[in-house]
Amino acid sequence: MTGTSKLPAEERAVTELAITPDNGWNALYLDGDWVPAGDRDLIDVENPATRSTVASVPSSTESDVDEAYAIATDAQSAWAERPPQERAAIVTEACELLGEYADDLATLFAVECGGVQLKADFELQLAQGTMEVGAGLAMRDGGRRKESVTPGKENLLVREPAGVVGVITPWNFPLYLSSRVVAPAIALGNSVVLKPDEHTPITGGLVLAKVFEEAGLPAGVLNVVPGYGHEMGDHFSGHSVPSVMSFTGSSEVGRGVGQRAVGSYTEPALELGGNNAHIVLSDADLERATDAGAFGSFTHQGQECISINRHLVHESLYDEYVAGLADRAAQLPIGDPREEGTLVGPVINESQRDKIVGFVDESVERGATVEAGGSHDGLFVEPTVLSNVTSDMPVACNEHFGPVAPVIPFETDEEAIRIANDTEYGLSGSVHSSDIARARDVADALETGMVHINDQPLNDEPHVAFGGVGASGMGRYNDEWIMDTLTTLKWISIQREPREYPY
Ligand code: NAD
Repeated sequence: MTGTSKLPAEERAVTELAITPDNGWNALYLDGDWVPAGDRDLIDVENPATRSTVASVPSSTESDVDEAYAIATDAQSAWAERPPQERAAIVTEACELLGEYADDLATLFAVECGGVQLKADFELQLAQGTMEVGAGLAMRDGGRRKESVTPGKENLLVREPAGVVGVITPWNFPLYLSSRVVAPAIALGNSVVLKPDEHTPITGGLVLAKVFEEAGLPAGVLNVVPGYGHEMGDHFSGHSVPSVMSFTGSSEVGRGVGQRAVGSYTEPALELGGNNAHIVLSDADLERATDAGAFGSFTHQGQECISINRHLVHESLYDEYVAGLADRAAQLPIGDPREEGTLVGPVINESQRDKIVGFVDESVERGATVEAGGSHDGLFVEPTVLSNVTSDMPVACNEHFGPVAPVIPFETDEEAIRIANDTEYGLSGSVHSSDIARARDVADALETGMVHINDQPLNDEPHVAFGGVGASGMGRYNDEWIMDTLTTLKWISIQREPREYPY
């Protein structure tokens, strides 16, 4: 492998980047250099609210991917040898820089993925939280000593960085979902090649390169290759170099990424889709359950893997719950995310909008009733509440990923559990009851990685294990769980006294 094909300085992209949309993001970040697009195709980043082009970034090629992995390989061992407090300090500094850029980041979140200010605040908080916890991992656990069954032997389990980590992330919480792998990976002595989503190459990738560069990260430890997943994704995920392939995105793409990774003996870490149920039992506090239901369905236009996809409500509370949810949905201010007070922005693109609208329309044709919303204008989809929904309707049995709340009635707790589990997904969920033991029984019976009692599924804390089962993924993110993925344990034994062999 050769080094980075660096262009002459005068042809390079701007190196003094500010965190604003119009500031020369037209570059890959390789080996500590902002390598301009050159003759690569460009990805135009569209503002989903105005449909105008915000920025153009290079579409990385397969040879860019090869180069990035080779650079990361070259940089990794020297980085791992740096004292842990130095690695932690750089991650901490990058975290602080994110805080300094909060206003610019809010603008970028709005123009790249339609995020309102509330969502920007959440995302920054999550990104900084994961960086703080990630930085701490640098000094957390160097391994352990285990007793031996062999006389005179000492067993040591030495924790080592995994090596090169490949990271693929989606557009919905781009900065956070990239940070939650990049920060702990770097703190633990790995090097990283990051492929952000084509909708959000700036907040999902180039911003991280910028803050880590400013924080003093040595060249080559983090490399960012924006690109189209359907063009270079197979090459990226099936590459022979990375030891870990972290993928956050849809279950369909994730399955292929996991298979290709395993085919190259790369450990996959998959965070995939969800069809999360919000269950309201007969003894629930209706106001609390409805408030939670609205927040869990409509935040960021329902575009989170842990958004509520289905509301399951006991028949005795059903009509009141539907009316309350419809009332809340109708009152949500919808518009350009940059306008003050907006709570619902646009969805990410036309195909996503068409999918959401299609699920709603088909479900209405099959008997569902629109109680609120039901229309769209451009990429703005109204917060929509549907009643008379059955669990086999398209809006309920698919991950709709939109501001849509299908409400399904049930008679018994057992029926609610059966409906909730009737999906290949198993990510998050919630249960409302005034009897915690009863809610706990339901939570125990739900086949998901996460359940929240008297809340809604939209929860993520940087020090708590996050992840799903079934089609929702493999492995857990955050804190010690992501540390296990991003490190490997080497068993070193020392035979301190001569050993007696049988022959
Ligand atoms: P997606 O799978 O289409 O894209 C995600 C990423 O995969 C993007 O970077 C894309 O470029 C890349 N990609 C596409 N084809 C590829 C290929 N063949 N090989 C490698 N990479 C490829 O997902 P999306 O629609 O952008 O994101 C929404 C999905 O992500 C939803 O299903 C959502 O539930 C899920 N998600 C899960 C979590 C979680 O933590 N479980 C978090 C956020 C989003």
